[in-house]
Amino acid sequence: MKYQTVIGLEVHLQAKTNSKMFCSCSSDYFGKEANINICPVCFGLPGALPVPNEEAIRKCIKLSLALNCKINNNSKFDRKNYYYPDLPKGYQITQSDIPFGEDGYVEIEIGDDSRRIRIKRVHMEEDTAKSIHEGEDTLVDYNKSGTPLIEIVTEPDFQTVEEIAAFAKRLRQIIRYAEVSDAEMQKGQMRFELNMSLKTPDLAAHELPDYRIEVKNIGSISVLEKVIDFEYERQSIEIDNGKKMISQTRGLKNMSGETLLQRTKESADDYRYFPEPDIPPIKLDDTWINEIKESIKELPLERKTRYLELGLELEQADIFIEDTDRGDWFDLVCQEEGSNDTKIAKELSKWINSDIAGFVEKRKTSFEKMPLTTKDFLYLLNLLLENKITGTVVKKVIEIIFTTGKAGAEEIIKERNLLQITDESELEKFVDKVISDNEKVVKDIKKNPNAVKFLVGLVMRESRGKANPNTTEELLKEKLDL
Ligand code: ADP
Ligand code: MG
Ligand code: ZN
Repeated sequence: MKYQTVIGLEVHLQAKTNSKMFCSCSSDYFGKEANINICPVCFGLPGALPVPNEEAIRKCIKLSLALNCKINNNSKFDRKNYYYPDLPKGYQITQSDIPFGEDGYVEIEIGDDSRRIRIKRVHMEEDTAKSIHEGEDTLVDYNKSGTPLIEIVTEPDFQTVEEIAAFAKRLRQIIRYAEVSDAEMQKGQMRFELNMSLKTPDLAAHELPDYRIEVKNIGSISVLEKVIDFEYERQSIEIDNGKKMISQTRGLKNMSGETLLQRTKESADDYRYFPEPDIPPIKLDDTWINEIKESIKELPLERKTRYLELGLELEQADIFIEDTDRGDWFDLVCQEEGSNDTKIAKELSKWINSDIAGFVEKRKTSFEKMPLTTKDFLYLLNLLLENKITGTVVKKVIEIIFTTGKAGAEEIIKERNLLQITDESELEKFVDKVISDNEKVVKDIKKNPNAVKFLVGLVMRESRGKANPNTTEELLKEKLDL
């Protein structure tokens, strides 16, 4: 790449609350009949007074803390003036110079490398209404207007698409762990704004380009990646042609990542920010902030570190911190007695992320509701590690538990006599039978080295999965003179 990409992100996040940011209208607008959750405050009618939603502010502060930000004890709301059909008041209540949270960071990992992305600010504001374009007309649904929105602004610390993807994923994990929002991008609960410029070689390492292109309202990571590619092309052609780059706001033309000029960047002056006259300054006391801090449970990176220290492989740890249903169940198994060494933990995690996850999906159930108990699972894997049962038997017992919906691995094994055959003389009976039943294979065995595995498979089948595959193979080789 000829130019170094410089990227900063702004993330808009819907905080999960019952009511809107400044009134008691319901904030649940998804799939609702249009324009049923509205009131004079939503519309800024004369005499209507906004009252800040404490729960939303709590969530904003909780997220700020989870993102390692400093909290401003003396904060305030500001009025950002502009007119747009989806903004019924003609202004948005937001925070300009004193956001609730400032100067934080997020730790991201790319493979074995870790990096810090600096968070510039986290502030609280309100969402706009929803415009619905129908042919020539545009309809507006005001249910969403005034719902709580948290904005997270990063420093321009990204250079690659991988960093952006890792950040988006980690941020979403943190948001979910802190129970601030479900952050479901398909539902528009988390949206991105890209700020991007290209650095020409004449700039020093610490210098930033004196322009930035802002692309608003990007609803998915894959589109974000496409926009970055498109903008790299577009901007580098302009720079190559000697054009003077100026800041612009651009919109998405389509989902393939193309962008269109909307306006050359307005400065903050154009919005005529001033302190919101209808809301007194916000004073946050330290006791409240500390109480919020203490309510934050384990965060994704702490959880990942815990798993790595336990000896799990990176890939398994990453699955568990992203898919917390699995991770939580793994933690429950680990609370059972006799689960606390690396060998068993590794084995447990592999089984959870392959076979158990498979059963859960196939049966359309969940880790929480499935009939397999942590005790049964641990019991089975311990037998497996002690070579008392084979992997096939583990699968079979789990399948029976899923099918019958009843726990009881120990009884199933006893009833069906599934303990592994380690006794050679018993195993020999199966081996002899398979050899005599498969004369042709045996005759060609020297030419076809894979045939032994085939015979091992047949012995496994004869023994209903109870034969130890290694012992069986040895025995076969011995008998067939291989
Ligand atoms: P303003 O104060 O003008 O709104 P900020 O400094 O808050 O601008 O930056 C807004 C966003 O733009 C941030 O995400 C920031 O990281 C990003 N940004 C700032 N300068 C650049 C640049 N030269 N290139 C790309 N992104 C930038
Ligand atoms: Mg912006
Ligand atoms: Zn309202």
